[in-house]
Amino acid sequence: AKQMGGGQYCFYTEEMDQHITRKLQLENGLRKAVEKEGIDVYYQPQVDVYSGKIIGFEALARWSHPELGFIGPDEFIPLAEETKLIVPLGEKILFEACHQYRQWINEGHNLERISVNLSAIQFMDPTIVSTVERVLKETGVAPEHLEIELTESIVQDSIQALPVMNRMKTMGVQLALDDFGTGFSSLSYLKDFPLDTLKVDRSFIQTIHENEKDRAVVDTVIQLAERLGLSVIAEGVETEVQLDYLRSHGCAEYQGYVFSKPLNKTEASALLTRSMAM
Ligand code: C2E
Ligand code: CA
Ligand code: CA
Ligand code: CA
Repeated sequence: AKQMGGGQYCFYTEEMDQHITRKLQLENGLRKAVEKEGIDVYYQPQVDVYSGKIIGFEALARWSHPELGFIGPDEFIPLAEETKLIVPLGEKILFEACHQYRQWINEGHNLERISVNLSAIQFMDPTIVSTVERVLKETGVAPEHLEIELTESIVQDSIQALPVMNRMKTMGVQLALDDFGTGFSSLSYLKDFPLDTLKVDRSFIQTIHENEKDRAVVDTVIQLAERLGLSVIAEGVETEVQLDYLRSHGCAEYQGYVFSKPLNKTEASALLTRSMAM
């Protein structure tokens, strides 16, 4: 960098400084947000392809930084993992989501499940099983109504992950494999792991109408799930064309903007009430 022109060098370090400053700002902000309930949980409906009824919700974390504004989970979740803040943060999200699910049940809504994302670091934390047990007990949610979404990165560390997955299964919690079809080279874990659901990654859904290869992947995942006795849910469904395709190819559940984006709890409650009246 030294032999660069003065202006360039300056610009470069300034940008680096800004990057580091932002990161530190985010880190501090995140620590405060975790302490003071500054992270919100949003809910995206999971829908029955055939009846159009809401089956459940996926909980998705949202953060509005006091100075920096909205920060997406794709930015703050990795930061929370790096700083280990994901453990207390993830516990709060899990609690909040289960609590909200229980509230909806109490209000008379017929909801099968609440889905919660767990990151690898959270899943490998020695306290995870007891945390899930305690949250279920405290919120009064039966374990079969909680679905935990895991990514393939967790599954890769199978020696550590398998016993934890088995303990979750014994407890009665449902396990879904998120972003399925991205980033892993072997299918062998599918038969070894006690999974209930495959989530087809939205990258395959989004070009269904234009790309024969993506259709092949989607069809194969649906058939594979069927053969293995697993449920399948498509994510990132944005158009009626995509939805029609899933319907006519036996994918029973979906989520995506075509039905609803993730909603805050008030909006989600209103949507549930409206759909109950239909
Ligand atoms: P994900 O688990 O794969 O979540 C799906 C993402 O797709 C969400 O982004 C959702 O808002 C977005 N999405 C839903 N429908 C559509 C659609 O029709 N089109 C498009 N283009 N996108 C759609 P979001 O909420 O920004 O979350 C991004 C990622 O951050 C999540 O990906 C998940 O990996 C992570 N994340 C979010 N909340 C949590 C959390 O509470 N805990 C953990 N560990 N990770 C989380
Ligand atoms: Ca997910
Ligand atoms: Ca996903
Ligand atoms: Ca994703």
